[in-house]
Amino acid sequence: MKKRKFSFNQASVDYYLGGSISQLKEIADPRHTVLVTDENIYTRHAKRFKPWNTIVLKPGEAYKVQATADEIITQLIEMEADRKTTLVGVGGGVITDLTGYVASIYMRGIPFGFVPTSLLAMVDASIGGKNGIDVGVYKNLAGTVRQPSFILYDMSFLNSLPEKEWRNGFAEIIKHASIRDASMFAELEKNSLAFYRRRRADTDMLVRRNALLKTKVVQGDEFEEGDRKLLNFGHTLGHALENQYELSHGEAISIGMVYASSLSENLLGFKDKERVVGLLQKYGLPVRAEFDKDLVMKVLKMDKKRQRESISFILLKRIGKAVIQPISIEEIYRSL
Ligand code: NAD
Repeated sequence: MKKRKFSFNQASVDYYLGGSISQLKEIADPRHTVLVTDENIYTRHAKRFKPWNTIVLKPGEAYKVQATADEIITQLIEMEADRKTTLVGVGGGVITDLTGYVASIYMRGIPFGFVPTSLLAMVDASIGGKNGIDVGVYKNLAGTVRQPSFILYDMSFLNSLPEKEWRNGFAEIIKHASIRDASMFAELEKNSLAFYRRRRADTDMLVRRNALLKTKVVQGDEFEEGDRKLLNFGHTLGHALENQYELSHGEAISIGMVYASSLSENLLGFKDKERVVGLLQKYGLPVRAEFDKDLVMKVLKMDKKRQRESISFILLKRIGKAVIQPISIEEIYRSL
């Protein structure tokens, strides 16, 4: 299995691109490893979990909460897991976020790795070391930044990924293209969801391109003091909508990207809002939503990117070029 090592300030991470979960044994000792997954993945891939101690959780964002972290910790105690135990999250972003979080706090920190199984986790959630849980409607309010030891890519998991989850993955891919990669944006405009679902070699290339794009951004700014903030394009409003209106992560940030594109048009003279909207629609993502302005503002005020009376918004100067712009709470309220 081919390994590429990427260094971050805190640690280095081994990426196994083009691997298979059957090769996990080469990286982690089954006697000292616990896998964490959810019921959807476990039932569809039961055979692959056979050699491993596995904690199986209920699926969905509603379970990305402290009570689930406590449940994992209780099971780890029952399994007599110690500081030498490696925790491996095999799943979508909910599972990788939870696994990274629990591994960061159990016995003050144990090693962990990921096998991302959703497109979204492959291109985004498993990369960069941010992990955590939601608290009520507040997304990712508690968590840590800690890098996994490894990320093992097994593209065959995508065979069982429902179409809706493909769409969610494309929301983050379109985000990456919008902020950083105009040529990928053009490629996505030329192709379609059906194309990538059929042409797996192209999907493989697209996943690699996105994984490397995010990795580079994080390598340059692990603790989000500068460029890493650009990855939040669409996320400020998106997060405020996601748990309040029970939208999926991809749907919520799709709406958030449209809003940020409108702000970009009004404040920076961004000329390609319609291209962003068109691309999101092409990949089956929603571009508008009805919501209660006051309720959304209440959640926005708790945003981690808020500084006193303004919030750092990510806007587009042009496709492929994003900038950070503080916008006053008042102005956001007016523009919603
Ligand atoms: P998810 O884990 O809920 O997965 C989505 C759905 O797909 C679930 O129902 C899951 O059971 C199912 N699924 C996953 N892989 C499957 C497979 N191979 N076959 C069949 N079903 C499968 O969520 P997600 O969309 O992968 O990720 C969204 C989460 O990721 C959010 O909580 C978001 O906040 C987080 N996220 C984190 C980061 C980060 O940097 N840490 C970045 C982006 C998103």
